Amino acid sequence: MRDLYEVLGVSKTASQDEIKKAYRKLARKHHPDANPGDAAAEERFKELQNAYDVLSDPEKRQQYDRVGPRMFEGAQAGGPGGFQWSGNIGDLGDLGDLFGGLFGRGGGGGARARSRGQRGADVGVTLTLSFEDSLRGLTTKIPVELETACSTCKGSGAEPGTSPIICPECRGRGVTSEDEGFFAFSRPCPRCGGNGTVIEKPCRTCGGSGRERRTKRYSVKIPAGVKDGTQIRLKGKGESGYGGGPPGDVIVTTRVTPSPLFERRGSDLVIEVPVTYAEAALGAEVEVPTPGGRISLKVPPGSKDGKLLRVRGQGAPKLNGGGKKGDLLARVRLDVPTKLTKAEREAIEALGKASNRDVRERLRA
Ligand SMILES: [Zn+2]
Ligand SMILES: [Zn+2]
Repeated sequence: MRDLYEVLGVSKTASQDEIKKAYRKLARKHHPDANPGDAAAEERFKELQNAYDVLSDPEKRQQYDRVGPRMFEGAQAGGPGGFQWSGNIGDLGDLGDLFGGLFGRGGGGGARARSRGQRGADVGVTLTLSFEDSLRGLTTKIPVELETACSTCKGSGAEPGTSPIICPECRGRGVTSEDEGFFAFSRPCPRCGGNGTVIEKPCRTCGGSGRERRTKRYSVKIPAGVKDGTQIRLKGKGESGYGGGPPGDVIVTTRVTPSPLFERRGSDLVIEVPVTYAEAALGAEVEVPTPGGRISLKVPPGSKDGKLLRVRGQGAPKLNGGGKKGDLLARVRLDVPTKLTKAEREAIEALGKASNRDVRERLRA
């Protein structure tokens, strides 16, 4: 078995940073996804992983410096499965990104699947907004209840002042080997559950889990133009990952209280504009509200009930549209008076004689 420092090509006094850099460089080169079908590259990659696993963990590195490759005796028996993962692999989040970026989603997923690190859960929260706020946008604080690293032990699970020790059963490998005559089997270490470390004095706050439920308050920026059901992702603000895995996200879903005036249609806003018979017949200028204030709307002569008039750029802001807005769609609604004075009645009767002639013409055809 080669010396671990030699495998990574670093000196025995290399800093954690140098070790990480050397590992990343070599891992890119020898990653199985970059060398499909190359068994030698795969072996080399496993060797790299093992070296990094030990040297990136200060405690395991200390142990290795003390006892050297003897650290792996017994466990190195090489069962039918061949190489076994040993212990936690540090900064998996980083690695996932590294391979994800290099080899596309499949590569990233593969790297993660082969590791112990597990991404923390996403947490969904709902934020209710007034219609006006949905158009204006706002920055607000939201409470999110989630499971995060225990604040007492900083996620280690060990009582402050103590730290997890290398598992004496598997000597930090996370697997144990048993000789069964001809074969040797590797299985997850029963003492540490494959973690490679055990906690002697569990943290009193979290009972050794390293996790705690807390309500965090996040500031969230709601962009102008969100709709009912728009989702905003706060990356990395979700639950803590497991075994060095990355945290999940917080997903904020907006609920928008309906407006009594406007109906949302994409980034357009529909509003009903009541007009009198005279205004519809003769045309008129009527005042209508928009999100930005009242405007004057020209109702053309001869407008029928239900006619849609489009006012460009007076609708809702387009989400991430750089200030662009949709349109206001004004729907003409003929308002029929329910109470009439004598004079009004006479005027309408006269109008009726003049204009009712052709109304039902098309029913005769
Ligand atoms: Zn704790
Ligand atoms: Zn163990």
